[in-house]
Amino acid sequence: MSTRGGIYHPDFKPLPYWWEAWKPEAEEPQPLPRRARVAIIGAGYAGLSTALELARAGIDSVVLEAGAPGSGASTRNGGAVSGGVNVGKSFTGRSLAMGPDRTRELLSGAAEAFTLIDALIGREDIDCFWEKRGRFVGAWTPEHYRRLAARMGGLNEAAQSGARMVPRARQREEIASDYYYGGMVVERAGKLHPALYYRGLLEACRRQGVTIAAMTAVRRIAHDAALSADRAWRVQTTRGDVEAAEVVVATNGYTGDATPALKRKVLPIASHIIATEELPEDLARALIPNGRTLSDTRRVLTYYRMSPDGRRLIFGGRARFTNVDAAVSAPILHRFMTARFPELRDARVAHAWAGNVAFTFDALPHMGREAGLHYCLGCNGSGVAMMTYLGWQTARKIANGANRASAFDRDELPGFPLYRGNPWFLPAVGGWFRLRDEIDRRFARMREGGA
Ligand SMILES: Cc1cc2nc3c(=O)[nH]c(=O)nc-3n(C[C@H](O)[C@H](O)[C@H](O)COP(=O)(O)OP(=O)(O)OC[C@H]3O[C@@H](n4cnc5c(N)ncnc54)[C@H](O)[C@@H]3O)c2cc1C
Repeated sequence: MSTRGGIYHPDFKPLPYWWEAWKPEAEEPQPLPRRARVAIIGAGYAGLSTALELARAGIDSVVLEAGAPGSGASTRNGGAVSGGVNVGKSFTGRSLAMGPDRTRELLSGAAEAFTLIDALIGREDIDCFWEKRGRFVGAWTPEHYRRLAARMGGLNEAAQSGARMVPRARQREEIASDYYYGGMVVERAGKLHPALYYRGLLEACRRQGVTIAAMTAVRRIAHDAALSADRAWRVQTTRGDVEAAEVVVATNGYTGDATPALKRKVLPIASHIIATEELPEDLARALIPNGRTLSDTRRVLTYYRMSPDGRRLIFGGRARFTNVDAAVSAPILHRFMTARFPELRDARVAHAWAGNVAFTFDALPHMGREAGLHYCLGCNGSGVAMMTYLGWQTARKIANGANRASAFDRDELPGFPLYRGNPWFLPAVGGWFRLRDEIDRRFARMREGGA
C-alpha cells in the first residue's frame, strides 16, 4: 500500500467494483413480443420491481432496456439502504420544509420501502450481503448537528428509525475520525451488494416468465384512443414496435427524449465512487467499527462504507455534478477520503466509476401519471429501497391491488419554468455548493477557535 507512484493501483479499472461479482451483459436479443399488457421502459430496480409484482398478479409485461439489463444506476450505487433519512433532501443538501402531516406521511412511506426491500430479499432468497447495520450521518458543522437533532424525533415517530444523536466526544464509536462535529445514528438502515441485489431481482423476474428485452431503446410513445384499450399505446423501439394497454416509465437519471415532458421534470446528476485496494486487515476493521454506512450533511454529499468482505473502503460523492472521467473524479474522492481518514493516504484506488441519479424540483420521489403514462422517477440520490418500492406500488396500482395511494403518488411531478431538459448549469451549481460548504466549515472552525 503506497501512493508514491500515484493514487491508482496497477490493476485499476474504471468500472464499478460491484461488477467483479456480477456485471450487466448484453445477451443474444430475444424476439421482441409485439404485444404485452404493460410495457415498462428501463430495467433498473424500478422497472424490474414493477414487472415482478405485475407477474405475481398474473399480468404480463415486457421490460424494454436500451442497454444491457443493469447498466443504469442499479448496479453502480453505494448499496446503502435507508428508510427515510434522505426523504425531502434536495440536491442542495438541504432538507425541504413541509407541514408535519405531510412529513409524517412521507417518512412512513419511506419506512414502508425499507420493510418491502427487507421482505423481498427474504422472499426471493436474494444472496446480496444484506445487513441491517444502520447508518451514521456526520455533521459538517455544529449548526448541522443541531438541525439533525431537530429532525430526530420526527424520524423516530413516523419511520421508527431508531435514531439517536452521537456527540463529537463519542464519535469514534462510529468512525475512526474526528472529522465531523458529531452526528446521528439511524439504526433502521442497511447495506447490500447492489449488483447482486440486481441479479436477484432479474432472476426473480425470469422465474416469473417476464420478458426483458435488452438493447431495445424506446424512441417514441404514441397513444391512439381509436384502438382498443388493450393496444392503445404504441411503443416504438430500435427493434420494432410493441403495443400495450399501459406504459410505465422507469428511466430515472437516464430519462431522455422518448418522454420529453418527463425529461423536463428530472435533473440528471452524476454521482461518483472509488473503491480502494484491499487494506491491511487491522486498518480495515477499525475504520467503521459498527459496520454502518456513512454519509454527511454537506451540500456536496459524500457517502461511504466497507465492501461486503470488509477489506475495501467504497467511497462516493458528487466529485462533480456531471459525468466526468475517472481521471477527474478519482483524485477528488481520494482527497475527500483522506481528509476523513488520513491513515488511508497510501491506499490506492482500484476502481472508479459513476452513474446518474435523478433529482426532482420538490426533492421527493414520485410515482403517478403524466399524459396517461405511468412513471416512477426521482430517487434524489437514494433509490435502492425507494425505486424498488415505487415499482411495486405502480404494479399494484395497475393491478388494482393497492388499498390506498402511496404517499409518493399524491402530488404532480413538478417542473421548473425555465428548465427545458438541458442541465447546462450543473457544473456552476456544483462549484457554488462546494464553495458554500467550505465557507460554512471555515466559519465553524473560526467559532470553535474563538470559543
Ligand atoms: C454512483 C451512485 C451511487 C448511489 N448510491 C446509492 C446508495 O448508496 N443508496 C441508494 O439508495 N441509492 C443510491 N443511488 C441511487 C440508486 O442507484 C438509484 O436510485 C436506483 O438505482 C434507480 O433505479 P431505477 O430503476 O429507477 O433507474 P436505473 O437503474 O438508472 O435504470 C434506468 C434504466 O432506464 C434505461 N433507459 C433510459 N432510457 C431508455 C429508453 N429510452 N429506452 C429503454 N431504456 C431506457 C437505462 O438504460 C437504465 O438502465 C446511487 C446512484 C449512483 C449513480
